[in-house]
Amino acid sequence: MILDDSKLRGLRQGVRDLCAGFPDEYWRDLDARREYPEEFVRAMTEAGYLAALIPREYGGMGLDLTAACAILEEANRSGANANPAHAQMYVMGTLLRHGSREQREEYLPKIAAGELRLQAFGVTEPEAGTDTTRISTFAQRRGDRYVVSGRKIYISRVQHSDLMVLLARTTPVEKVKRRSDGLSVFIVDLRDAGDRLKVKRRRVMMNNFTNELELDGVEVPVRNRIGEEGMGLRYVMDGMNAERILIAAECVGDGRFFIDRATGRANDRVVFGRPIGQNQGVQFPIARAYANVEAADLMTRKAAALFDRDEACGAEANMAKLLAADASWEAANVAVQTFGGYGVDAEYDVERKFRETRLYQVAPISTNLILSYLAQHVLGLPRSF
Ligand SMILES: Cc1cc2nc3c(=O)[nH]c(=O)nc-3n(C[C@H](O)[C@H](O)[C@H](O)COP(=O)(O)OP(=O)(O)OC[C@H]3O[C@@H](n4cnc5c(N)ncnc54)[C@H](O)[C@@H]3O)c2cc1C
Repeated sequence: MILDDSKLRGLRQGVRDLCAGFPDEYWRDLDARREYPEEFVRAMTEAGYLAALIPREYGGMGLDLTAACAILEEANRSGANANPAHAQMYVMGTLLRHGSREQREEYLPKIAAGELRLQAFGVTEPEAGTDTTRISTFAQRRGDRYVVSGRKIYISRVQHSDLMVLLARTTPVEKVKRRSDGLSVFIVDLRDAGDRLKVKRRRVMMNNFTNELELDGVEVPVRNRIGEEGMGLRYVMDGMNAERILIAAECVGDGRFFIDRATGRANDRVVFGRPIGQNQGVQFPIARAYANVEAADLMTRKAAALFDRDEACGAEANMAKLLAADASWEAANVAVQTFGGYGVDAEYDVERKFRETRLYQVAPISTNLILSYLAQHVLGLPRSF
């Protein structure tokens, strides 16, 4: 459903109101303890926001990507971190677009109602890195089940999810024509995995719930395979434009958080008898960061609008992610500089958001890989790898 401007404003206000119940102290405390924001994720679920993209017939809000972007942007702008909750929005796309009618009917209403959490997406592996075609986790078919073994790394929110969408090889790489063939996607019910799945949390620089997984014969019913066997990489790639655009919106939200805080501080902090923001050396970097966040927002809106019209948007989705991640990172640095010593002080929250937004230069796709996509697929330069 497309929302007109006034409904979109109402949606944004609703998210702001919800986030006001989760002030800086809430996030600061969880960050110090490296705990999951259970209450925030529950509130977002109960408000229906995490089911924004689930069609109404399955109990979701049935909104378009433009509206979903507004939700995540507002969350991050408020000082929250949408990361612990955001995967449900984009992981669900694989199920929605490529799942069978039975799978959609089984899972989507429960996800929309908050009875099932779909927050985990298992692609990355230690030996494969960015080259997903090299993953070696293998799903061996045995009758009506697959038996899955292998290792994954940096798989987030596994302890806070009931289901995981998993990419695994179903045909050995030596036996496929193209390396992108022979991979399949599964819905893994984490509640049934038992001790065949070992989960070890990785401590990273931000409060992120990411893990190393060891799968040692995890059984997955054949009916839990999404789409055709061997076509999995295509299904996963298909969802990546939405993921990139949604992450770009989070970065725009982060950028606006930093600009808001830096501007407030520059107006209030008096040194040498005048507000520091009266000095052009302080105000120009904030103004430049503001311009870059606004530009990134335009590209994000353009990418979302193309996606919503079902038009090709690979270049725009990638550019939105690139520009927004760069803009939020620039704004983060400017905010730290504007706050001076307080910029690195945990009580002022800029340093926490600084660590959080840094991730988006690296994940879910690194800046270099976006540049190489643009160079090769948009500019027609030679393939470099
Ligand atoms: C906190 C966190 C959460 C994550 N959550 C998930 C998750 O839930 N699910 C999931 O599947 N994955 C997840 N990831 C993994 C993430 O998507 C990867 O870390 C990311 O895709 C980069 O892969 P890599 O770390 O293996 O880097 P590598 O592939 O080892 O690359 C390292 C660096 O080299 C550069 N590089 C590599 N090849 C080239 C080249 N040909 N040209 C130029 N530069 C190159 C890359 O751009 C990168 O900067 C998460 C990661 C983190 C840190």
